[in-house]
Amino acid sequence: MGNELVQITAVSQPGVAGALQTSSVASAGRLKTFYIETFGCQMNVHDSEKVQGVLLARGMKPVEDHAQADLVLYNTCSIREKAAQKVFSRLGAFRKGSSGAGKVIGVLGCVAQQEGERFFERAPQVGLVCGSASYSQLPRLLDQLEGGNQRVSGLSLYTDECFETELTRRDNPFRAYLTIIEGCDQRCAFCVVPMTRGPQRSRPSEKILAEARGLVDEGYTQIQLLGQIVNAWQDPSPARWSFAELLARVAEIPGIRRVLFTTSHPRFFGPDIVQAIDSHPTLCDQIHLPVQSGSSAVLARMLRGYTREEYLEKIHSIRQARRAISLSTDVIVGFCGETPQDFEQTLSLMKEVEYDQVFSFKYSPRPNTLAQANGDNIEEEEKGRRLAELQELQRQIQLRRNQALLGETFEVLVEGYQARLGQAVGRATTNRVINFPGSSEDIGRYLALKVTGAGPNSLVGVRV
Ligand code: SAM
Repeated sequence: MGNELVQITAVSQPGVAGALQTSSVASAGRLKTFYIETFGCQMNVHDSEKVQGVLLARGMKPVEDHAQADLVLYNTCSIREKAAQKVFSRLGAFRKGSSGAGKVIGVLGCVAQQEGERFFERAPQVGLVCGSASYSQLPRLLDQLEGGNQRVSGLSLYTDECFETELTRRDNPFRAYLTIIEGCDQRCAFCVVPMTRGPQRSRPSEKILAEARGLVDEGYTQIQLLGQIVNAWQDPSPARWSFAELLARVAEIPGIRRVLFTTSHPRFFGPDIVQAIDSHPTLCDQIHLPVQSGSSAVLARMLRGYTREEYLEKIHSIRQARRAISLSTDVIVGFCGETPQDFEQTLSLMKEVEYDQVFSFKYSPRPNTLAQANGDNIEEEEKGRRLAELQELQRQIQLRRNQALLGETFEVLVEGYQARLGQAVGRATTNRVINFPGSSEDIGRYLALKVTGAGPNSLVGVRV
């Protein structure tokens, strides 16, 4: 399905000006070792886990240091300008020649898609450029590199394929990511994702369930379903399950203890999701529902597809759930034309909702987005002032909400241990972090903890 739609470009450039420039790119030969560094969201992290699966299936070995790698990959993020710049600073290390000699340097992900073949001019040490919509073409691109092509790229966005791999190298021993939908068909005015990840394409329910069952057989008890807009998932198989039905089916797999899902878009968020959480204890009591702004005027300019009032209705339906559901959100400050009154509305929405966690960002204009044409008319200093005010408000809200939990008991999955402090760290189903006196042997266990202390970002507890 869809193979013919994906453009593969293998550019071998003997004799042109590039020949000198590409002297650090490996010539023909087997690629035996790889190093991969990932920037950005959970989807990127999981894409890298799947890319590693592809490389392992070719018999390649991972190395901890890029100096030892035949193939060095950077999986990039372009959601904000700062994130996009990171890869260029990494590539700078190879520009001076020697450290890149004999290696293939590859750029994957959103910046790869955004810059395309311009990468080869901007960073001549790069031999592979591949966007996420073309990852299923990676084996052929790698064959071409090993066959002597010095510059190969997979950059077509016109695909109806998802990235399916035989092998996935999951980095986290406790929580397994599982992608259910790729790409994005929304046109939020600020967002670069539809231009870098391609059209929305859902995986069939039977493939998702089979992968989830396989993960439980491997010993995972916590699964996080992923998608840029996870709740826009539409079952392409004849079963035609809704997203809420899929959540329920995954939650019912024997052996599963926790199911999470990110990121939900308010536009597709219905009461059936809350009902599924209510009737399935293994569905975690946490929802991430990005609002972006509390002003309906700004939301309309962002093309988010809901008003402040409609968003608050959804929050109201979540607050009616039988279990108290923890809420988090994303907010952008300083979007073009955001007035002080618009910003005040965002603060008032935050006071009304009382989120448990907020991820807040200064607006960063992105190439090819609808908002780019509107300019970026809020001064950086003013954006910084608004961001600081918003974050201070949220700090106080979180502190108050966390202090209200003193004396309560939560089940945590223990994720780590700091020997220096004698402290272990676990995560509750609400995504709250709880530190407690423990040992390295606690890692991976589910424990009940009573809350004895509360800060804005985490809790302190003891075993009960
Ligand atoms: N797909 C999700 C949605 O539409 O709600 C969001 C995914 S995005 C990777 C994570 C967050 O980055 C967004 O929710 C938004 O708050 C922020 N973001 C996206 N574009 C941005 C931009 N141009 N400037 C600042 N923040 C941005």
